Amino acid sequence: MKLLITRPLPDTVIAQARAHFDTTMRDQTTPMDRAELVQSLSDYDIVLPTLGDLYSADVFDAVPNPRARLLANFGVGYNHIDAAAAKSIGIAVTNTPGAVTDATADIAMTLMLMTCRRAGEGERLVRAGQWQGWHPTQLLGLHLTGKTLGIVGMGRIGQAIAQRAHHGFGMTLKYYNRSSKPLPFPAEQVASLADLAAQVDVLVIAVPGGAETHHMIDASVLSNMKPHARLVNIARGDVIKEDDLIAALEKGAIAGAGLDVYEHEPDVPQALIGMETVTLLPHLGTAALEVREAMGLMAIDNALAFAKGATLPNPV
Ligand code: NAP
Repeated sequence: MKLLITRPLPDTVIAQARAHFDTTMRDQTTPMDRAELVQSLSDYDIVLPTLGDLYSADVFDAVPNPRARLLANFGVGYNHIDAAAAKSIGIAVTNTPGAVTDATADIAMTLMLMTCRRAGEGERLVRAGQWQGWHPTQLLGLHLTGKTLGIVGMGRIGQAIAQRAHHGFGMTLKYYNRSSKPLPFPAEQVASLADLAAQVDVLVIAVPGGAETHHMIDASVLSNMKPHARLVNIARGDVIKEDDLIAALEKGAIAGAGLDVYEHEPDVPQALIGMETVTLLPHLGTAALEVREAMGLMAIDNALAFAKGATLPNPV
């Protein structure tokens, strides 16, 4: 079977793919353009796409009788794929849940600590040669221990963040989620996002991207937050209305933000770049070799199951 891998992946993943499939690895690190997306559906049996490969409904419309029957997405988030449109023309979609959980929770903790403890600001001070030595009131941040954390989306990653915050930092946990979750740690479910925003010192976003969560965090939510509170986003950029976040930061409605993802990625607004109170990471959530290997091997497992006619391990 012909398999297209749309970006360079770790060697172990490519070796596994080549051992089982007639594999083509696209060697560009940028997302496929529309012509490539269309061609991928007509030229390959299986495509292993990832973030930014925008399989929207009109791409599927352009190939009514596709050769491709599986999009084995590399990543748990698949908001770049219109899965309903894919299914309507007989293309299955799978993802890589679980493989990404701990690494992404770690980046959430990194952003919480960097933003609350002003680590980026401090590092820039040292690198600029402007540090004049320790003194008792320099760069005072927010102490995380014992504070209240609000988690929006108590799924796999939300729970991994909660475990770290509860066991590592003694934080009080509150969350907003569609369903209620049986949890192995104390956490209060809050019925409205606006109420959760009002009750916490740090608000972390861990919901999937997509139409339902688009601009879920806007001026109305941000205006409810405490002025000393920080917002952290490791989910998808467009869950936050970025203009509203910039306005909230500019007027001091919240004290800072830690962002791994952006509304118009990879464009990061100059207004955010210019703010000392904001920590900006380049979508590092799963960026560790073992994690990217595990994600790739999970995607290949889905492709292998498809090739054997077996049940897909991770359908979306
Ligand atoms: P998950 O296990 O499916 O968890 C998502 C949680 O969000 C679920 O508990 C779900 O509740 C809740 N939710 C969904 N829609 C909601 C809504 N409209 N309102 C309130 N709660 C809602 O997914 P995950 O594995 O934790 O991953 C979460 C997302 O993180 C991914 O979809 C991806 O976009 C992002 N991510 C980012 C990175 C990165 O590099 N920064 C890495 C990995 C993942 P129910 O259970 O009730 O549906």
